[in-house]
Formats: sequence, structure tokens, C-alpha cells
Amino acid sequence: MPHVIKTPIEQVAGLKRSDVQNCACCRKGVAHGGNILFYQLRLARFGLDLGAVRRQQGLEQMLGGCARLADVMSPDEDLARPVSDELQVWVCEPCSLMHPLAVIFELANELADEEETAATSNTKGANGG
Ligand SMILES: [Zn+2]
Repeated sequence: MPHVIKTPIEQVAGLKRSDVQNCACCRKGVAHGGNILFYQLRLARFGLDLGAVRRQQGLEQMLGGCARLADVMSPDEDLARPVSDELQVWVCEPCSLMHPLAVIFELANELADEEETAATSNTKGANGG
């Protein structure tokens, strides 16, 4: 069963001018086509820890297939681990309809790398290096 973390809309923080980002895909302003709706995404890629999954599954089998009992008896280790930094990006409505999530993630990583490189070169320039 999917687990959804739902924050009621009245508790979601609004966005200020200083929060504004361009679309991570087309790199235009998120309202460039006149559409005022966009997405703010927090993305991180995870990989399963197969050893931890097997240990959890083995405990569950030892306990007669009772997943809830295995949950209580297990050391509650991480079954998946992040394999990327977490990115927070904006995606305009047209791009959200055109690009699969993995493509958005890769484009956002490229953008983050470019921004990091630009920030590093700006720092070097300011220091005369
Ligand atoms: Zn876009």
C-alpha cells in the first residue's frame, strides 16, 4: 500500500520572490507559457539494501509470515538508502506532462551541477583566482 505524507494545504508554506526558480527542464520561468501552475518537487534517488531486505524477509518467514510481528522484532534497519543528493526543483506544467520522472531528475542534477560550478567560479573570481 502506498504511503503518502500529506501536508494539509493550509500548512504548506507559500513561496516568496527569493524562492523563485526556473523550470529544471526547459530552464524558462515556470509561467513562461502563461500557465500559472507548476510543481515544486523534492527528489532523491534510492536503492534497496538487498542484505537488509533479505534479513527482514528471513525474520518474517521465521515468524510464520507475520510481517507485523517481524516489524516489531526487527532492528528496524534501513531497507533502502539514498544514492543521490536530495534536490528541490520547480517544473513548469508543460514539462511535467512531457518528461518522465527519471528525465526530470537527470535534468535537475545537470542544473544543480552547473549552478555549483558557476558558484565555485564566481567565488574564485571574487578571490582573484
Ligand atoms: Zn519547463
